[in-house]
Amino acid sequence: MSAFIFYTLFYLLMSGCIVYPPTEFVSAGLTVKDIFANWLGSENEFFIQYHIRRSVITLLVHSMLPLGYILGLIFFGHVDAAKLFHVGGNFFGLLVVLCFTIGPFYMLNKVFEWSAHDWATHPIALNLSVYSNNNMSWMSVASDINVEYRRVDKIVIVTSSVTRIVATDNWIIKITPYKLQVAHQSDATLIVNKSDTHLMSPTTRDQVQFINIQVKPTRAMAKAFDIRLNALDFKDLQDKVSRPIIVLQNITFHRTLLDRFIDTFKEEVNRNPFYDIGLQELDQCIGCMQASSNIKLNRLCSSAESRDSDGCTTCFCRPMWCIECMAKWFASRQDENAPETWLSSKCTCPVCRAKFCILDVCHVRTLNH
Ligand SMILES: [Zn+2]
Ligand SMILES: [Zn+2]
Ligand SMILES: [Zn+2]
Repeated sequence: MSAFIFYTLFYLLMSGCIVYPPTEFVSAGLTVKDIFANWLGSENEFFIQYHIRRSVITLLVHSMLPLGYILGLIFFGHVDAAKLFHVGGNFFGLLVVLCFTIGPFYMLNKVFEWSAHDWATHPIALNLSVYSNNNMSWMSVASDINVEYRRVDKIVIVTSSVTRIVATDNWIIKITPYKLQVAHQSDATLIVNKSDTHLMSPTTRDQVQFINIQVKPTRAMAKAFDIRLNALDFKDLQDKVSRPIIVLQNITFHRTLLDRFIDTFKEEVNRNPFYDIGLQELDQCIGCMQASSNIKLNRLCSSAESRDSDGCTTCFCRPMWCIECMAKWFASRQDENAPETWLSSKCTCPVCRAKFCILDVCHVRTLNH
């Protein structure tokens, strides 16, 4: 019995890894598209044909997984095949076997049907035919996409081990295991309608933000679809898409790493005490010439730390910067390749070069009495 459970768990795990490959499987080349690479042809040369084949083989492989389980059971002797098919045997078991067998045969039949019509009835071809003008076949749309995909300036965003977003000069394409969803940029509306933030790990406070973009083609018969991607990939996509991407008013997200840092910087500074000054007019920030300068570098961090040569020093400059510009300045002095160290690193005053850390950045408060 324990061997049976072990086999079942092992098979479930392997099936899960085939359907949704973890990074180890992807890098080892143990995915459906890697195993059948020879038959699939070149994605770069014949993008659409490649993905029709890839979706077909993925469907077939996935549909065979339940049957493979049963065959394994029989092969390893957990189930007696003779008993199973014996008249008057286990009726329920036979029914399960029958159901699991029908799946792959149904899919095989479907695939033969599609290939007999030169794939014209395949869902991907049907999707494309929506975009064919003047009674041209779906093949003309396919070759148009193929040509654009071959260009080097396309954008490919990997959003998971099984989904990718492609933006070419005129098309937006979402690649999923069984499907290929396309929209022509000229008649599609893109709307960011959701964002969600996840903590990567509770100790580092490192967050990732995902946004959901609805792609809505206005062409008759064309279906809308959603793309979900890391907020930091938004700019790449926006740059490649000819139309503006609408961001709903209640949605906030960080488009760049700097964007995200500025927000964290502000949060941290809000925890520091105010720096009180007498009633006086605060000048405009010399960084942006727009906001009024509201930041004073005031050495507050622990004195023990300041004793070593690397410690913070006192800045005697009057408030000259706004929080936004100070955050940008701070970020600009940090190691670009290690953003997780930024907040704990030091920086120098842009004017007098006194060293300061995040704990020394204070909001200015004017006392009016
Ligand atoms: Zn400023
Ligand atoms: Zn200074
Ligand atoms: Zn300090």
